[in-house]
Amino acid sequence: MTSHRDDASMDAVGVSADDDITWQGDVRAGVRQVRDLDSLPLSPAERSAAQAAATRHKVRIPKAYLDLIDWTDPADPIRAQVIPSPEELTEQEGELDDPIADHAFSPVPRLTHRHADRVLLFPTYQCAVYCRFCFRKESLTSIGRGFSREALEPAFAYIAAHPEIREVILTGGDPLSLPDKALAEIRARIEAVSHVRLLRLHTRVPVALPSRVTSGLVRSLQGRLMVTVVTHFNHAREITDAAEQACSALRQGGFVLLNQSVLLKGVNDTVEVLEELCRELMYRLGVKPYYLHHGDLARGMAHRRTTIHQGQALVSALRARLSGICNPVYVLDLPDGGGKVPLGPCYVEAQDGETWRIRGQDGELRTYTELVGDP
Ligand code: SF4
Repeated sequence: MTSHRDDASMDAVGVSADDDITWQGDVRAGVRQVRDLDSLPLSPAERSAAQAAATRHKVRIPKAYLDLIDWTDPADPIRAQVIPSPEELTEQEGELDDPIADHAFSPVPRLTHRHADRVLLFPTYQCAVYCRFCFRKESLTSIGRGFSREALEPAFAYIAAHPEIREVILTGGDPLSLPDKALAEIRARIEAVSHVRLLRLHTRVPVALPSRVTSGLVRSLQGRLMVTVVTHFNHAREITDAAEQACSALRQGGFVLLNQSVLLKGVNDTVEVLEELCRELMYRLGVKPYYLHHGDLARGMAHRRTTIHQGQALVSALRARLSGICNPVYVLDLPDGGGKVPLGPCYVEAQDGETWRIRGQDGELRTYTELVGDP
């Protein structure tokens, strides 16, 4: 079998190809390496701090995302997500290289099998944008490689040999940073396994490089399988006309769209920001807010983590303001592979036999008595 070379040049975000020129221009005009930080309107002190921090995690920012930054605001929430900051160099005891134990649950390379009915598949460790808060940044740096057919063969064989697997989740890295041809091949290999029912993709491309969502990309994912695209918007300012077009193309392609956000101090840790984000996701993009993740224990990220109490207060307030369909579930992905667990809010205050004391959304305690028929 002819192989793709296992290096950056095979990933769509790194090469010229036959695809739409717009997204390639967005990549080329953006930040692709540390020295491109020189072209940004940073003070000399900010620039040298960013360059120092960029040694810990790769830098890549498409122009479409750079253009969203308000450079007059040093605390701009878009800037905070992609421009390296010196705080990243301060690590805390207890921070982890692999915060959710991907590697401990990896029976073959490029695959994690933590829950019986689903696996994570890592076709690439490259992204269209590198987010400073990424919990997989150590893998992106240490593995760092793009797509190759050979590298995925053990993972495909594992999926075929495990009939309990119903869902395959393409993550990484960002699967939508791959060329259409590679995506179509991966999709075809997965859908050839009859027990797989759903293909899921986790991606930040509709946020940071929406022009990459071309008709060719949509076609490459269409086939036998139900496809769910899980986007990663963190702030309403990321919801642009281009992002709207990208999500519309994905929805019209027949895919279900969900969003997961990370709760980040200084980016989206107010109820107003989260409320606007969730509303715009659902009402403008047709993307259901799915998870709000508590910040993982990624290295050098203490400055962006909130406390769990702060997160619980935020989601309590959100619940009172937003309809159910606009509300994400606040979760913690436990270290050591314990899985995602909801962190609340919990409205149950007490139980006495069949009588429950439950707090209403207005804060008042009410009694609910269970009335269940005889077995
Ligand atoms: S796109 Fe996803 S995997 Fe890539 S750096 Fe951002 S959060 Fe991490």
